[in-house]
Amino acid sequence: MCEALNNANSRPIESETIGRIGLVFLTSQGENPRRYLKIGFSGDFNTGTSLHVRDPSRTHFKLRFMNVGHGDCAILETTLTQRVGFIDLGSLNPSRFPLAIQVLSDAAKGREIDLVLSHYHWDHYSFLGSIGNPPLNRLIVPAIPLSAATESISKFFALADIAGYGYYRLLPKALMSASEVIAAHRAEPLNLLDLRCEVLWPDYSQSIPVIHSRVTKLHEKLMPIFAEAEKSLSIDDRQYFDKLVREISISLSEGRHYRDTTKKVSSRRSVDKLIPFLDKIEHHIKEIADYFSLAFKLDVENDESFGLFLGDCPSQVLGILAPPGGPFVLVKGAHHGTRYGNCLDPVQTIAEVFSRGPRTKRIHDGYLHCVEFQLFHSTDLHGDLVVSCNDPPATQVTLP
Ligand SMILES: [Zn+2]
Repeated sequence: MCEALNNANSRPIESETIGRIGLVFLTSQGENPRRYLKIGFSGDFNTGTSLHVRDPSRTHFKLRFMNVGHGDCAILETTLTQRVGFIDLGSLNPSRFPLAIQVLSDAAKGREIDLVLSHYHWDHYSFLGSIGNPPLNRLIVPAIPLSAATESISKFFALADIAGYGYYRLLPKALMSASEVIAAHRAEPLNLLDLRCEVLWPDYSQSIPVIHSRVTKLHEKLMPIFAEAEKSLSIDDRQYFDKLVREISISLSEGRHYRDTTKKVSSRRSVDKLIPFLDKIEHHIKEIADYFSLAFKLDVENDESFGLFLGDCPSQVLGILAPPGGPFVLVKGAHHGTRYGNCLDPVQTIAEVFSRGPRTKRIHDGYLHCVEFQLFHSTDLHGDLVVSCNDPPATQVTLP
């Protein structure tokens, strides 16, 4: 962990201290001069702020981080395609629901959606069922690199579908109805709306023993509970369950490149007997899913790093990953800013972005004292953040 933490001061850095000034990105010296030339910064801290990036590349895009309270939701639009991209799509704060759903539905209207689901916690997908069922074109999920984890999660999702269990019922539907499911991991190239991404985690080549043994233990604990739960299924439901588990595990581990329209996901079957089992299992599944949260870089042309997205990546992972490079225009803090690891110590960025609600735990000192940044943006304090690349805004700040 970086030196600065020894005399860390936990005072959050307010955006106001940076003020409405123009920012010129980071370095034009050194061995790797950066191409980002000018950054304008404008806006009202109560209603949201905008960061405008001028880049000599031809890439045009706009990324809007929504203030959804404790949760995560960003909208990505680019001139490269008609499709709209969402990077996570959820919130835990019901007071944020109506406004967020309105904005999201407007963005989705009549367009196909590419959705990055960083992991299977409902603060990241709870709006899935509320945006008017637009066609899900590509669903990008983290590949799950451990069969014990895949089996546990697939069985839980299949039972959740059969019982219509809470928000989890939305996941099997999304996994089965998307035209394509991409199980993203480090070794595979990834595109999001034709913008290139590089996945940092999950990584099949890197086993983290502490995670491996924890997941194996949880899996062993869960198997007898699943066996009991499966006894309450009718013969029909049992067949459906087996089929769904097979399909979901393939989607979670390898992805799926076509949709078999003959296979439909059921509507609620009201198998109430399953509920107590699901209640018992849910907590453990949340822990397993957390270990495989997607972390990736969003690039612009010529592989220039633009954004670093860390999902809810565990600190154990951020502690052992190789430094992600950069400098970045933006870094999205892991787990709403509460998780941090050594790989982030050398990171430089213009903006640190945190999607938070009033009761989210405090931001890790590493983001305040190790990462080098110019703008601190927390959605609960500062509202939405719009970051646009080569997209001329109405109130552009022009720099000397
Ligand atoms: Zn979360």
